[in-house]
Amino acid sequence: MTIDEGRYSRQIRFAPIGSAGQVRLAKARVLILGCGALGAACAEQLCRSGVGMLRLVDRDFVEASNLQRQSLYTDRDAAACLPKAVAAADHLRSINPSCSLESIVRDVRPAHIEGLLSGIDLAIDGSDNFPTRHLLNEACCKLGIPWVFGACVGAYGLSMPVLPGETPCLRCLQDQLPDAGDSPTCDTSGIIAPIVQVIAGWQVAEALKIIVGDRASVRRELWTTDLWAGTLQRLRLAGWRHADCVACGARPTYPLLHAQDSGGIVLCGRDAVQVQRAAVGDMARLRARLGAAVVLANDHLVRWRDGDQIATCFSDGRVMVQGCTDIERARSFCDRWLG
Ligand SMILES: [Zn+2]
Repeated sequence: MTIDEGRYSRQIRFAPIGSAGQVRLAKARVLILGCGALGAACAEQLCRSGVGMLRLVDRDFVEASNLQRQSLYTDRDAAACLPKAVAAADHLRSINPSCSLESIVRDVRPAHIEGLLSGIDLAIDGSDNFPTRHLLNEACCKLGIPWVFGACVGAYGLSMPVLPGETPCLRCLQDQLPDAGDSPTCDTSGIIAPIVQVIAGWQVAEALKIIVGDRASVRRELWTTDLWAGTLQRLRLAGWRHADCVACGARPTYPLLHAQDSGGIVLCGRDAVQVQRAAVGDMARLRARLGAAVVLANDHLVRWRDGDQIATCFSDGRVMVQGCTDIERARSFCDRWLG
């Protein structure tokens, strides 16, 4: 494999990476699960570092309220309502054309998380909720794929690498983490841009160590910081692995991978419900069928309005109904419009 020695000269000069590390980076295939603030920042750093392939997965589209902290996106992406996985790939392609990019616009579900990890060497957590992180954790533990946890809200953030079979997993540490479903979100508590860059930096530093094979240097600590208060806490992970952990213990049961999928979720803090339907074969036909109700459409989604309710249908069959917090009501809304 030929490496562009000029392009990566400063990184190759960094002794722990060197030429051998650069070759490993060029062969690495990384999953970015969620392309919001953290995912996009990590993807950019990894792309610039010269990783061979990035698989970008995200269910959302770029909105104006993202631009204050989601550094990869532009005003034009928000105006065009582009899916984040698509907009991110567009920008990354122009940053480093040698990085191969896959965009997947979809929700992360138990039924296909293992497929998203197929052929992947390392996963980056760019999700915005703990249920998704725990699902990624179980799948990575099962498949033996290292991943790097990261989360932030307000001016606060935390991060930890997980080496399955070697270090504690997210489930082992769950008592030390915010409660799933009960933790503040960016929608409810806000967030400032610098915490994103700090946590993304922590995540990518560990990712680089793992990819270049410097396992001895991988941080065996959970770090948390509050940039506003000026605090940094380091929890040593030695001794936190649980022998009976359902994800990484001696007899794992992977409860989330085997969970029944209801196909509908309430999106916290957004006054919206998401319903999963069959994939849309022809977006143009759907747009024509919805007729005058359509307020926005592109190759990836169609949005239409019905009174106070605004719905967005993605090509993978997800429909986000805004102005609604009841799954059954959202389902009947979809049945009424989409048949
Ligand atoms: Zn565990």
